[in-house]
Amino acid sequence: MSLQFHNQLSKKVDAFTPLQEGKVHLYTCGPTVYNYLTVGNWTAYVYWDTLVRTLQANGLEVTRVMNITDVGHLVSDADDGEDKLEKGAKRDGTTAWEVAAHYTEDFIEGMQALNLIAPTHMPKATEYIEQQLALVRVLKDKGYTYQISDGIYYDTSKFPTYGDFADLDLDAQKAGARVEFNPEKRNPSDFALWKFTPEGEKRDMEWATPADLLDKGVERPGFPGWHLECSAMAMALLGETIDIHTGGIDHIPVHHTNEIAQSEAANGVIFANYWLHNNHLKVDGTKISKSLGNGYTLQDLEEKGFSPLDLRLFILQSHYRTEGNFTFDNLAAARNRRLNWRNVAALRHQIHDTLTTDESTEEDSKTISLYAASKALVETLSDDLNTAGAMAIIDGAFDAVLSSRLDTIHQHALVSFIETIDEVLGLKLLDTTPDISDDQKRLIIERTRARDGKDYARSDEIRDELAKSGIAVRDTASGPIWEYTH
Ligand SMILES: [Zn+2]
Repeated sequence: MSLQFHNQLSKKVDAFTPLQEGKVHLYTCGPTVYNYLTVGNWTAYVYWDTLVRTLQANGLEVTRVMNITDVGHLVSDADDGEDKLEKGAKRDGTTAWEVAAHYTEDFIEGMQALNLIAPTHMPKATEYIEQQLALVRVLKDKGYTYQISDGIYYDTSKFPTYGDFADLDLDAQKAGARVEFNPEKRNPSDFALWKFTPEGEKRDMEWATPADLLDKGVERPGFPGWHLECSAMAMALLGETIDIHTGGIDHIPVHHTNEIAQSEAANGVIFANYWLHNNHLKVDGTKISKSLGNGYTLQDLEEKGFSPLDLRLFILQSHYRTEGNFTFDNLAAARNRRLNWRNVAALRHQIHDTLTTDESTEEDSKTISLYAASKALVETLSDDLNTAGAMAIIDGAFDAVLSSRLDTIHQHALVSFIETIDEVLGLKLLDTTPDISDDQKRLIIERTRARDGKDYARSDEIRDELAKSGIAVRDTASGPIWEYTH
């Protein structure tokens, strides 16, 4: 089996080779915890969770860091505007610390609801201030920094390959320097490593700036820049060169470009070998924005009767590099697909596995096709995380199961295939498909007897009773089969 990914570093699909055989060091830019995450935000985390699962299915041991940005991410994503956390504190009438704690907890609950594997480390930026200041010191000692009135900046002109990652036209940037361009900056693309608390203000989150980092020894408290945080935490927990770094495509021109400039200037070695980026999710064909009120959260979805797993399946239907479009109709279609898949998973309770010890099973084509489908599933995902292709394989295999007589389906092959689906796509098909109760089973037998005896009134009565408990019965050539109705 071979893994390959589209790599922003080379701008093409590259075969994946980890630095250390059998091990992967992975960094994912985590959330800025100042608000509830929207379906758009969650899209990234679902894809990167699927990446982890795919690496693991290929026998790789994954050490993963996903940071929590709890300070320093400014409203503009660059160096202007208010800190999102401090702004959130004003909005919620609380402190930035409380905002961070509340939304971090909500993020972790959402991760669990979406069945996202917990990263090995989830460092908070505020707990790595010392490492971030140490990185500023290294960059200052190497001559990459300069101080202006609002902070310590990185001089991007000192890093000759600065524009390569995002194919930036730096000359055009200079020529068309925007109105909001800070005139004290040497180059439009220079960015703040460490910002000073504005004169006369007191932030909830601020730290003393070590005297040796300040040009004139004037005491100024400050806070880290968002880009610096990721570099410092990645280095502290994963080392100077990591295998894979992931984020959204909006991170390419500024955030990731800056992470590379800082890390590689400081260490003199490549920061990450593979850079993967997910595309955006639109809602009803438009960008998610506060003013449109279309930034649906998991809570909004649950209020409308959807499971977070419906969203998970919906997201996986598109490739991570294509732009997705969320509508409630699309989500309802995903919910139906998940229900159909759950009903195939429920067949395992209804198969009397007479084939288990039968030597002829090796030759049973359906059995073989289910084992082959498991293999094809992992192979398809290994090809640049082709989740849409993986879904088509599942549909094909399940269609074959549904068109077969129950007694020709090998229970072990079916369970093993569904286990693989759960492992790589995290859809919890086994966990969400419990067997029905003995009472319900007795009712189904009674219903069959009533039908055989042409007592249709009783048969309908039983059907209605089962329906109340969310179970429907379908009569097939293999006998009655029960299904969930939701
Ligand atoms: Zn980052």
